[in-house]
Amino acid sequence: MRSITEIYIDGAFVTPHGQETVDLFNPSTEEKIGSVRLGDREDARAAIVAAKRTFPAFSRTSKAERIDMLTRLSAAVSARTEELTAAMAEEYGAPHYFTGFSVSHAASAFLNMAATLENYDFTRRIGRAEVTMQPLGVVAAITPWNSNYGFICGKLATAIAAGSTIVIKPSEMSGMQTQILTECLHDAGLPKGVFNIVNGRGDVAGAEFSAHPDIAKVTFTGSTAVGKQILKAGAETLKRVTLELGGKGANIILADADLDQAIPIVLTMGLTNSGQACIAGTRILAPKSRLPEILMHLKTGMEAIRTGDPKDPQVRVGPMVSQKQFDRVQSYIRLGREEGAEILAGGEGRPDGIDRGWFIRPTIFTNVTNEMRIAREEIFGPVLVVISYEDDEDAIRIANDTSYGLQAYVHSGDLDHARKVADRLESGRVVVNGAPHEPLAPFGGFKQSGIGREFGLFGLEAMLEPRAVLV
Ligand code: NAD
Repeated sequence: MRSITEIYIDGAFVTPHGQETVDLFNPSTEEKIGSVRLGDREDARAAIVAAKRTFPAFSRTSKAERIDMLTRLSAAVSARTEELTAAMAEEYGAPHYFTGFSVSHAASAFLNMAATLENYDFTRRIGRAEVTMQPLGVVAAITPWNSNYGFICGKLATAIAAGSTIVIKPSEMSGMQTQILTECLHDAGLPKGVFNIVNGRGDVAGAEFSAHPDIAKVTFTGSTAVGKQILKAGAETLKRVTLELGGKGANIILADADLDQAIPIVLTMGLTNSGQACIAGTRILAPKSRLPEILMHLKTGMEAIRTGDPKDPQVRVGPMVSQKQFDRVQSYIRLGREEGAEILAGGEGRPDGIDRGWFIRPTIFTNVTNEMRIAREEIFGPVLVVISYEDDEDAIRIANDTSYGLQAYVHSGDLDHARKVADRLESGRVVVNGAPHEPLAPFGGFKQSGIGREFGLFGLEAMLEPRAVLV
């Protein structure tokens, strides 16, 4: 049983003023594995004071000094890969393939930002103006539970590269993961106050960060509903925001796709991180002309997917993070039936042979229209829908007929064909034929999937403000 009793302010682990504690669970067993004591508004304000005090000196650090800090942070995170990975499996239940790259992905965020910084010119001349890109001030980061390390490290790396200090409120459900990660970041030996980490509730510590006048910018990853609250809370002081929100990605199988190649990728992208991923391609669009054979491939592929112990390398789908998330996903499976969709694989209840843990049967619905709630709302679990289309125009229309626009997928035997379709999608990213991640390319959403972009140059400039001096 792990008891997390401290938060991190001004370079030190301190006991929070807040008294509230929440329990932490192993989602594979439903057993309580620990508790975390939460910071309150006073703790959030103490973190802001430390970050504000450190900002003037930190904003004047050189590029070389920041690159050195980023390099040290990356090494410090990598040094405890095994412990970080184990905590993620235990507290979150992410499957082995996902935990296997999560820590290296988080550590590489610092190196990617160091490389971006290396090539970045903070000053440029425009006519008679000298334009300098300035750090914004104190930044607040608010992050979700579904990839705790990656979000914290990515936002911290960008703030440091820009010369801003930061206060971070991770998900209250990630206490054990956050504790080890914070110890790693502390070991990198940065000046005190550069980063401060406060475990706390969203409507307490998160709300304080979102409204406090000394916060210049909020960088948030989480649900669209909370993103809107943060935007409203920041409006009074005109905070800059980057909002990385929900998604309902189209996963388009074009008529010329090789199904043996495409279907495994379609399912991998749909079920990524047990379906608890904003980027999951959960709306499969299939051409009517090939619907029967596509459904056959999808059914066979889905039934072969192993669900269970996240530590088992063969397992592709682990448990949902909480009882609440389990109940929510089950309710969507019920809703799908009520809306008139048909189950091709999966269904309500736990997978065969599993009688505890927040496990869901990977489920795929057919006979779905894009008007149904299971096609429009983010379910955040291993539940996919198949919507049939007539031709490319129809596929593009359906793909864009959503309030989201984060990441879409196109599968085709002809790259030019895939690109033509990709060019018409209202989506921050489009992945063709399962292409690998590009860490320096911008990431973020169109429409209600968010505001702004992260990663690389676009991410860095979202933390900077130009000042033009005319002489
Ligand atoms: P959530 O929005 O419930 O919580 C995210 C964070 O916001 C948590 O730290 C929470 O404590 C905090 N929060 C809650 N209420 C708040 C408030 N009123 N003010 C300030 N902070 C508040 O999201 P979640 O359930 O933790 O994560 C799942 C959601 O995150 C999904 O919708 C998913 O699509 C989204 N997500 C988006 C991305 C992306 O990059 N676009 C990545 C991962 C997850």
